[in-house]
Amino acid sequence: PRSYVITGAASGIGAATAALLRERGETVIGVDLKGTEVEADLSTPAGREAAAARAVELAGGSIDAVIACAGIAAPIALTVSVNYFGVTDFLEYLAPVLAKSPAPRAVVVSSMASLQANSPELVEALLSGDEPAAVEIGAALAAAGPASGYLNYPSSKRALSRWVRRECISERWAGAGIPLNAVAPGTVISPMTEKLLSTEEGRKMVDSSVPMPLNYHSDSIVLARLLAWLTSEENTHTTGQTIYADGGADATLRGDNI
Ligand code: NAD
Repeated sequence: PRSYVITGAASGIGAATAALLRERGETVIGVDLKGTEVEADLSTPAGREAAAARAVELAGGSIDAVIACAGIAAPIALTVSVNYFGVTDFLEYLAPVLAKSPAPRAVVVSSMASLQANSPELVEALLSGDEPAAVEIGAALAAAGPASGYLNYPSSKRALSRWVRRECISERWAGAGIPLNAVAPGTVISPMTEKLLSTEEGRKMVDSSVPMPLNYHSDSIVLARLLAWLTSEENTHTTGQTIYADGGADATLRGDNI
């Protein structure tokens, strides 16, 4: 079996991916705040380092793929710490271990929101790797009200998709034979969206910004299957991509102007 490390494995997309891979006979080490093999807080530098070290230990030093699903959508600065640095730092710790695998793969979960209005200043701070500066900008956005606070989420995902594209061709990733990609869900029925999707008003709001003409909202398993393929041995040449599994939302919003 291949050995997978999955963050956010206690819930939603991460839990569905862990279950799918286990069903297929693979070994999965889940990472989450609680309820998984590794319990850690990916919002802090120390938590990321400890999580990576523990995952390597539990895997006996051999990891074939990392799938980073952990994320939050709250209109607060914590969102940039979890969604961006909780992914990029964690992957960077594990890259040298992955590089020893005969078929190493990495994938992160971005979002349709990576295409929404964001804070360019925050995106630049994230891409520069300056976490204190990014958190300061995120906190100022949050303090200015909920609409502005929400910008933390699309900014974190925009930066994450750009990070994947920028990093994938480096020595650490392509140079070590590691495809590095992102997936971008539309609206997924999961604990993250449960409350919002339970009212007609909430559904209207979501659907107006993320229209899904093909098959409407998805279950987590839809993303799990894509994440599993991107991290399988079959994927040898797809890298740097943000793959939209969004029921046509990207095609609706951007048309053929790509
Ligand atoms: P979810 O809330 O069901 O699962 C997210 C998991 O991340 C939870 O188990 C949570 O405990 C974990 N997590 C949060 N903060 C953490 C931290 N500091 N340290 C460790 N783990 C932490 O949500 P989901 O819908 O499965 O979302 C998974 C990913 O998909 C997220 O990155 C989210 O942004 C993205 N996404 C979701 C949707 C959607 O509609 N649900 C759409 C686009 C993108």
